[in-house]
Parts: sequence; structure tokens; C-alpha cells
Amino acid sequence: MDSQLHIALFPFMAYGHMIPTMGMARIFARQGLKATIITTPSNVPFFSKAIERDRQLGFEIFIQLMNFPSAEVGLPEGCENASSINTPEMIPKFYKAISLLQNPLENVLKDCHPNCLVADMMFPWATDVASKFGIPRLVFHGISTFALCVFDSLRRYKTHKSLASDFDPFTVLGLPNQIKLTRLQLPDYIREKNELTEHKDQIIQSEVKSYGVLINSFYELEPAYLEHYRRVIGRKAWLIGPLSFCNRDTEDKVQRGDKTSIDEHECLKWLDLKKPNSVLYICFGSMFNFSCPQLLELARALEASGQNFIWVVKKEDKFLPEGFEKRMEGKGLIIRGWAPQVLILDHEATGGFMTHCGWNSTLEAVAAGVPMVTWPLYAEQFFNEKLVTEVLKVGISVGSQEWSRHEKKILIRMEDIEKAVTLVMVGEEGEVMKNRAKELKEMARKAVEDGGSSFSDLNALLEELKVINV
Ligand code: UDP
Repeated sequence: MDSQLHIALFPFMAYGHMIPTMGMARIFARQGLKATIITTPSNVPFFSKAIERDRQLGFEIFIQLMNFPSAEVGLPEGCENASSINTPEMIPKFYKAISLLQNPLENVLKDCHPNCLVADMMFPWATDVASKFGIPRLVFHGISTFALCVFDSLRRYKTHKSLASDFDPFTVLGLPNQIKLTRLQLPDYIREKNELTEHKDQIIQSEVKSYGVLINSFYELEPAYLEHYRRVIGRKAWLIGPLSFCNRDTEDKVQRGDKTSIDEHECLKWLDLKKPNSVLYICFGSMFNFSCPQLLELARALEASGQNFIWVVKKEDKFLPEGFEKRMEGKGLIIRGWAPQVLILDHEATGGFMTHCGWNSTLEAVAAGVPMVTWPLYAEQFFNEKLVTEVLKVGISVGSQEWSRHEKKILIRMEDIEKAVTLVMVGEEGEVMKNRAKELKEMARKAVEDGGSSFSDLNALLEELKVINV
């Protein structure tokens, strides 16, 4: 048998899942493995540049295609990524299409004979598919160990079920720290049964049956939670992040995710003119659209704070207050579309990150040593906020209260936004957080170096895979 291990990676079709999967493929290939990314035709351009560059360096990363059943479920042709969903009616159709990918996955595995399958948690049936081929399946959740532990506690103790009000804070039981949440901050499928609840149960069952779990994080960031995940919850897990460190030069940092809507040189030139730690970077990930009133509150808060900022808005947003862009010239840079996020976070002028606490963004901020203004919106982002503000203490909350994928009923007021921004950017508290963030950055860097915790976890996993594949 060929002694080179071959890992197939099957990411969920959303940027927040594809970006770290590309990172995993790159770190596996750098360890001498062959890595094959399984995806659909419209998602190929997302991976191809980075793959091309790595192939030129002699690393073995390949793409294997499967068709996405857009037409079968009534989605427009080419709608193969969660970021192309722009109406609520498209959501169930997209998930239907995802559920139809089991046979195509089998066909791909028949063709490419990997020794192991890393499949996104969104594909619970992937564990059975892998076992048909006699290979281990590793689950990639794309979230923090902390969030995995919170989800487990909610499932185990159901404390949120016995509350009088959605606004009552309750303690998430059994965790290493005292963490309080409200029911309003929990995902809808946890608050009450909906079409996603069953899917989430299947995810847990498939996780239990799978070989183990890969996590984009590093031991020193959440040691107590990794212990809890391994010993109390009983999962086999390897922490191999931060995966964003696989982007080493400017080209790497630019060619990840969508095509950037600003020339990177222009962006760097703008940042180069600013003092260290003087710019607030604002981005709410790849999926969420704010309402106009909320965007106005944010614009007013930024103006009132007097801070330099780079603000990423959606292409279609036409909300800015009268004369805002003119008044902010030189002080605020607005990027409409996709920003080179890691490049911006890594620049010394960037001193704060207003984030929705998506896990990739959160960890990218940690890896860059940048404190955060936290504004969670949905998914597990409210949990990540607690990790950032209460456990790691490198962020201040704007006071977001309401979990929702769509327009929110509760507006976050300009005064609250401005207060959090000022505390992080210029306050004494902000200074302390900046120092703590720099320490975390140093720990993150060491974790991925030779002998570091993530490096060792990765190698331990590869050794294990070699043994089971003999
Ligand atoms: N991202 C980016 N530029 C943008 C928006 C997002 O590079 O303008 C990247 C960001 O660096 C991160 C990912 O997209 O790697 C977003 O993932 P996250 O988990 O933070 O949030 P999601 O988009 O899944 O809500």
C-alpha cells in the first residue's frame, strides 16, 4: 500500500466553513499528506488560487468535484453556497440540497480512495458513508471548544426550559466558569423544536459514532474546556489551530474567501498612514444583513467616537447618514463587499475589531492580538462572546440581546455602541485588554510552531491515522 496518507476534506458550502477547511488541507499537505477537497463546481474558484500556489511549492492538494442539486430543489443555477441565499424561502431548499449529497459523496470516495474523511458537522450521514469504505470520519464543527461545551450543557441540563422569561439570565451548568446566558440568546432550534432540531440531534449522534473531532483552536486558549470536552463529554478531539496562520504572506491573506472588493495595496496604504492601534475594524462576517435603522445607529456611533475605522458593509447597503462618507474621508474607510480581513487584523494600525463573534473572526482576532467589541447575532456567536468578554477578557460587549438570523426587534443604541468602542480603543480597560490580547497572540503563534500544542496534536493525529491504515 502507498505509505502516503490521503485525507479527503468535505466542507459545508459557506465561507465560514470553507476558509478553515482550506487551512486544514494546507497544513495536512505541509506535513507530506495528499489532501483532496471535495466541493461543487461553483465553489471551485474559492479554492483554486490558494491550491495553485501551494501546488507550485510542491504540496499535494487537489479538488474533487460533485454536482450540487440546485435545480432539483428549486434553487437558481449556481446557487451552491450559503452566501448566495438571499430570501428566507431559499433556506429550506438549500438544506434539502445538502441532504441529497450523500450518494454523490459515496461516488467521490469510490473514485479517490482516501484513508480518512474530514467532513463538516453539517453532513451527519458522512460517518456512515466513511464506514462503508472502511475509513475513519473526523468531524469538523468550525466552532470553539467552549461553544461545544455550552451546547452539551444545554442539551444535558435543559436549564433554559424552566425559566419564567426569555430575558432571565440562567447559569450554563457544569462548565469550568460561571457563564450566564438568557433564553433570548439561544438558537431558535434549542429554544423550541423546529425543522433544525432533528438535524442537530443527528449531528450529535454522528459525532459520537465518528473517529473524533478536529477543532480550529489551540490548547492554551481554552484548556479547561478542552479537558471538559475530552473527560466529561468524552470526545476524542484534536486542536490544530489557529488555522489562519497558514496564510503567511500578503497574497495568502488576500486570496482567501471571496474576491476582495478593495485593492490590497490601497488598503495597506490607508492603514500605513495611521498610528499603531488607532483603527477599529468592523465586520459582521459573511452572512448577516443589518436593518437600515441599525446601520444608522452604528454609523452615528462611529462618527461620535472620533475613532479611525474600516467598515465592511454589504454591496447593497444604502443607508449612510447624509454626508457621512464625505465627513469621514481620511478617518473612515468603507469597504463594500469582501474585505481582506486577516491582512487588516494583522496590520499594526488595527487596534480593535467590532465583530459578530463568528468563530473564525474571533480566532483571527486572537491570532492577531486585537481586542474586540463584541456584537453577536446568531449561530453560536453569543457563546463566543462570553468566552471573549468573561473568560479571556479581551473584549467589551455592545449589549446584543437577541438571537436571530433575520431582522432584530431590539435595536442596539448609538450610545451603547459608542461606549463599547471608546472603552476598547482608548480606555484604561482597553489598554489592559490590548496587553492580554498580545499575550494570547504570542501563545497562538507558539502553539503552531514546532513542538507547540497544535503542532503536537496534529502530529499525534497523523501518527494515529498511520497506525490504523497499516
Ligand atoms: N471574511 C473576510 N472578509 C469579509 C468577511 C469575512 O475575509 O469581508 C472572512 C473572515 O476572515 C472569516 C470568515 O470570512 O475567516 C467568516 O467566518 P466567521 O466564522 O467569522 O463568520 P460567518 O461568516 O461564518 O458568520
